Amino acid sequence: MRIIVMKFGGSSLAEPEKIRVMAERALKARAGGFAVVMTVSAPADLTDDLVALSKLLTQAPEPREQDALLATGENISAALMAMAIQARGAKAGSLSGVQAGIRTGPRHGDAGIISVNPARILRELKKGKIVVAAGFQGVNKAGDIATLGRGGSDLTAVALARALKAEICELYTDVKGVYTANPAVVPQAKMMRQVSYDAVMELARCGTEVRQLRAIAYAKEHRIPLRLRSSFENGEGTLVGDFRCRGAKPEVTCFSIRKSGDSAWLHLIGANLKAPGIKSGIRATAAAAGHRLRKEIFAPDKITLVTGFRDGAPLLKALHKAFIR
Ligand code: ASP
Ligand code: MG
Repeated sequence: MRIIVMKFGGSSLAEPEKIRVMAERALKARAGGFAVVMTVSAPADLTDDLVALSKLLTQAPEPREQDALLATGENISAALMAMAIQARGAKAGSLSGVQAGIRTGPRHGDAGIISVNPARILRELKKGKIVVAAGFQGVNKAGDIATLGRGGSDLTAVALARALKAEICELYTDVKGVYTANPAVVPQAKMMRQVSYDAVMELARCGTEVRQLRAIAYAKEHRIPLRLRSSFENGEGTLVGDFRCRGAKPEVTCFSIRKSGDSAWLHLIGANLKAPGIKSGIRATAAAAGHRLRKEIFAPDKITLVTGFRDGAPLLKALHKAFIR
């Protein structure tokens, strides 16, 4: 059985019409010969709304009850998705985290995944069903529902992909893939066809990538091939894998930018970045564009530059032009 795990974020499930479109995606993957396991997040802002709702009753909800509440968002998506697929005439079944065999550690609100027993999912797949697993949740040793930290459906997806020995784990959102820089700041930024786990983790750390850092680290540890792609467009997206740069050649892969107070923090992510040519290239580019660097930190896989708030975007553009071909 060739298994694919397809994970859809909340913005892809915000309305019934979107749920229908994602159901079509799953059906298409199945028509392409895959046994399909979907992982779904709660619709749009539902998780935030549930947090706000609990706060109307108590400022300090018991973590066990908070998890019982928050996990319902993903259950809603899973049941609705299964219905949408069934309405298209195909077999489908939703599973909560418990039903999907996901066992967690004890920490409510930010539990880790300890093990996944894929037996039930495999049974459903053999019956010809598309399985829709609720993301973000599992069951702990005490038999209680525990959630996996914000954005935790990504972790569900990669953990299922590992347990099911899936051929690929696809994470769908409203962006087309991973770019060499934020296209809103650098219009020339290019979508990368492939990128390393390390680079995506770095982007997640800097806040550029919205994928859960822990999920990418898990994928890296277990070498799960990931594809980050768009829910609404038909591109190939970005493949994330063990694409380390093997030689000694310096290489800038991508950039992130974050503004904080009166400063802009730029990160250049890549390999062999301590090479002297890189340092002088950065300084020359900054000087030519008239930007003063307040701070430079060089590591082999990441360079951090701090400049004035207003200098951030133009400096990023200049560096992108100089370093990305
Ligand atoms: N619904 C949860 C959250 O908003 C989990 C997820 O989206 O992956 O954090
Ligand atoms: Mg969500």
